Amino acid sequence: MSLNFCILSSGSSGNCSVIWTEKATILIDCGCSIKYITKNLSNLGISTKNLTATVITHGHTDHMSPSVFSLLFKNNIPIYLHKDVFEDLFRKYGKKIEKCTNILFNKTFKIENIYIKPFYVHHKDQYVTRTFGFTFSSIVNTKEYKIGYITDTGKICNEIIKNLVNSNILIIESNYDEAMLESSLRFHDNKKWVSSDWGHLSNESAADAIVKIRQLSNNKENLKYVFLAHISKHHNNVKIAIDTTKKILTKNGISNISLFATKNKKRCPSIKII
Ligand SMILES: [Zn+2]
Repeated sequence: MSLNFCILSSGSSGNCSVIWTEKATILIDCGCSIKYITKNLSNLGISTKNLTATVITHGHTDHMSPSVFSLLFKNNIPIYLHKDVFEDLFRKYGKKIEKCTNILFNKTFKIENIYIKPFYVHHKDQYVTRTFGFTFSSIVNTKEYKIGYITDTGKICNEIIKNLVNSNILIIESNYDEAMLESSLRFHDNKKWVSSDWGHLSNESAADAIVKIRQLSNNKENLKYVFLAHISKHHNNVKIAIDTTKKILTKNGISNISLFATKNKKRCPSIKII
């Protein structure tokens, strides 16, 4: 039994990750082109035809592409999403997305040997009413191996932390640097939304959440890999995101986490946790 994870792309130009065991291969979001997803999966030895399922966090276009949905439907690959996410997408794409499977909030479901728990995160605007984070777990010899995944959230609440504790791999949004956002030339309303409780997460807030998740985990050594996701190209950069996080982790005596910065349209190293 093995549990593997790879981010194919993360950022406002497209989000897509994949998690796989010997029995199941699950795509998380599909906000890139068919060509990009097919090519990058193929480099990992995965064919789009052999996907077991896709789960969708929310309805923003950088997380779902209607043409990828069509390809998945054509290959009879189920797409799991919450009914509110479905409604957000239905308003925009109508019947193009009608064959999706409904998932319930906070109810763990199982695809082959992967347990998936969806939970609410704080991210909405005029197009999107509901966004989800997920945990993906597998149990081997009574031990649970877990991947925590939140790519878009304006704030971190106790409920989110509770869901993410004991993760071995954590994917967490680290969207903006506070000073860069403040001085950015983008529209005031957009900046206000980004920094609101329903927008995106700052580098500092992401780092504070990593510290909390590690502190509350049963075994503090569990969390080995952290991917800083959805790094904005307008008000952040890889160096600032990594430096800010490292500084906060070091201040809290944490030095044994491998930290990765995700990029738009650039595949991250894949991780095998068991
Ligand atoms: Zn979004």
